[in-house]
Amino acid sequence: MIDQLYRSVSGYLPDSVTPTMFAGSLVALVLLVPGALVGSLWWRRRQRNRFTYRFEIFWDKKLRPFCPTCRSPLSNWSQHSGWKFESQEGRTVRQPATYHAFDCPLCVKPVRLVDSDGYEVSLEEALAQLQAPVRED
Ligand SMILES: [Zn+2]
Repeated sequence: MIDQLYRSVSGYLPDSVTPTMFAGSLVALVLLVPGALVGSLWWRRRQRNRFTYRFEIFWDKKLRPFCPTCRSPLSNWSQHSGWKFESQEGRTVRQPATYHAFDCPLCVKPVRLVDSDGYEVSLEEALAQLQAPVRED
């Protein structure tokens, strides 16, 4: 089959191209084309799946939240209750407190949004900051 192909195109090829070289380059082409295809698909997938780490969780390109520990998608943004510790007259006092967090279905723990100063951030605020153009300061 390669012989037939070679004969039909040999008129267009330089004389230095032997049938063996032709067959070799054909095989290389056959291997290269799917390789390049798979490579470009992999690259596009990689670009799409690239995560941004902000507010102590991962975000994808579409600003969907992902767990910082296991990278599974987070959902169910809701109010949780816990405790906060306050200093009162030199004593540490435990006070009930509520906070908002995602639930990680795999880690089975609440995942909070925390800014770079350590303060809790609401989901609305986090999304607004993620959508805002990157400041360069
Ligand atoms: Zn997790």
